Amino acid sequence: MRPAPLRYAIRPLRPEAHLFEVSCTVAAPAPAGQRFALPAWIPGSYLIRDFARHVVAIRAEAGGKSVRLAKLDKHTWQAPPVKGALTVTCEVYAWDLSVRGAHLDTTHAFFNGASVFLRPLGHEEAPCLVDIQAPPGAAYADWRVASALAPARGEKGAAARHGFGLYRAENYDALIDHPVEMGNFTLGSFKACGVPHEIVVSGRHDCDMERLCADLKRICEWQIRFFGEPAPMARYVFLVTAVGDGYGGLEHRASTALLCARDDLPQRGMTGTPERYRTFLGLCSHEYFHTWNVKRIKPAAFTPYDLDAENHTTLLWAFEGFTSYYDDLALLRCGAIALDDWLALTAKNLANVSRGPGRLRQTLAESSFDAWSKFYRPDENTPNAVVSYYAKGALVALALDLTLRAGTQGRVALDDVMRALWERYGKTGRGVGESAHDSDIRRLAEELSGLSLKRFFDDAVYGTRDLPLARLLKPFGIALEWEAGKTPALGARTSDEGGFVKLATVYDGGPAQDAGLAAGDLLLALDGLRVAPATLDARLARRRPGDTLTVHAFRRDELMEFRVRLAPPTPETAHLTLAPRATAQARTLRRQWLGA
Ligand SMILES: [Zn+2]
Repeated sequence: MRPAPLRYAIRPLRPEAHLFEVSCTVAAPAPAGQRFALPAWIPGSYLIRDFARHVVAIRAEAGGKSVRLAKLDKHTWQAPPVKGALTVTCEVYAWDLSVRGAHLDTTHAFFNGASVFLRPLGHEEAPCLVDIQAPPGAAYADWRVASALAPARGEKGAAARHGFGLYRAENYDALIDHPVEMGNFTLGSFKACGVPHEIVVSGRHDCDMERLCADLKRICEWQIRFFGEPAPMARYVFLVTAVGDGYGGLEHRASTALLCARDDLPQRGMTGTPERYRTFLGLCSHEYFHTWNVKRIKPAAFTPYDLDAENHTTLLWAFEGFTSYYDDLALLRCGAIALDDWLALTAKNLANVSRGPGRLRQTLAESSFDAWSKFYRPDENTPNAVVSYYAKGALVALALDLTLRAGTQGRVALDDVMRALWERYGKTGRGVGESAHDSDIRRLAEELSGLSLKRFFDDAVYGTRDLPLARLLKPFGIALEWEAGKTPALGARTSDEGGFVKLATVYDGGPAQDAGLAAGDLLLALDGLRVAPATLDARLARRRPGDTLTVHAFRRDELMEFRVRLAPPTPETAHLTLAPRATAQARTLRRQWLGA
């Protein structure tokens, strides 16, 4: 027997107070007393967020009478045994303008289900109906609804497309995987391989929607064809919030929530693809690729998600890193950017990774596992201790792609591994298996290519050895060169703190650390002369490696003096260029890989 649907309702109760009212009705609550919980985190963003802390009031009723809830822990409530249906209603404070939570004011409403919808324990597989209601008052008469949630056709009160009313989700997991925007937004639409796509832009903006739709269509069609038609979703929605300054995205099974600066969006009459817009398209491409890679091809550890606590996996390098590799590669292959742009983006990522001493301390598998307590909770020591499973993961994807292509004379590529992951794991719902030092991804790549890749993965994912990218790129006629910086190195990353030079990070084993300087120190003078953020580089550029500087700095309110021996400039910039005399074989391998 199919379980009775869970019935949810959400309405902006008082937009000016940023309060949603959210209710959940269970037709047949647990006889011993029904429990309800809010997720501790939102899938895709690996940090405990404790959404329940924004519940400002909660009440329950059954048979027209109120019943008392007992709170069991930070995010779980228990109702006593009741006869008939049980409704729990809470007020949720929503003032988080990010892609991960909920935000409500008099201009718009946005929410992720994970931050507002209670989960009745034991009813996770029941279908859900959710009544999305308009805020009260004539001021909101022009508000509409955007979401990949499907209107509950056939039910009384079903929503019309973009209307308020009843929507449906197949279960709780689906319910919290469809963020919702309400307001007076701009709507663009296009079809990609026959699948309806929408782009919804809220916030003030002057976006050229026609240009944006045309570019997104190209990217989406390339990705759908990459994995193979038909697309796994019946429709798809890009939910964009444009602000003065911001950047972020979160993937969902049939939509994505994006935050961007309004100037990242294309404007009418714009020619070419300026860097800011290219970055925005890269973000769209990234989240769209997740529709397959992480929303459907998932680590076994995520099937199902444990929404109560950290959900550890060693595989984020494959889900975030490989997605980061393909986000820009898709732009190149679909013609949205040129080869020179792609080479520059890849070189920049290479330089970023090689700047962080943390890459020599932490493996990608460890970085993935500890995402919750390290990558997502950065501090002054993060560059020394942590490697990004996004940035280095993308380089591992590049290195693996090159290894496969060169090792099989172009017969097998990472593309084939991704498609096999989709066929065997994504389509079947089987989770990608892992142990502490190995994964199904290694086995699959070996099976397809016939190559032995144990050593590759041991070094790249479970070790800290730098990837031999210069050597790997050579058979493709691409040269990697490093350019050193111009100034002797202080061994610190600095920031501007009210006109003072602040040491944001002191690099492990560098001159600043050797001298005793620490993160947080404010530099006042070099060799007795005042130094400021605007003059630091020029002052260092006049000195030579090996010179010793007297540095005066404040640590807290104590004036201190240090002797810093400057190091040679570090390699700062990577250049990737097409080798002028590439062999015909190299050109063929390159064409198969990059298209251009
Ligand atoms: Zn991602």
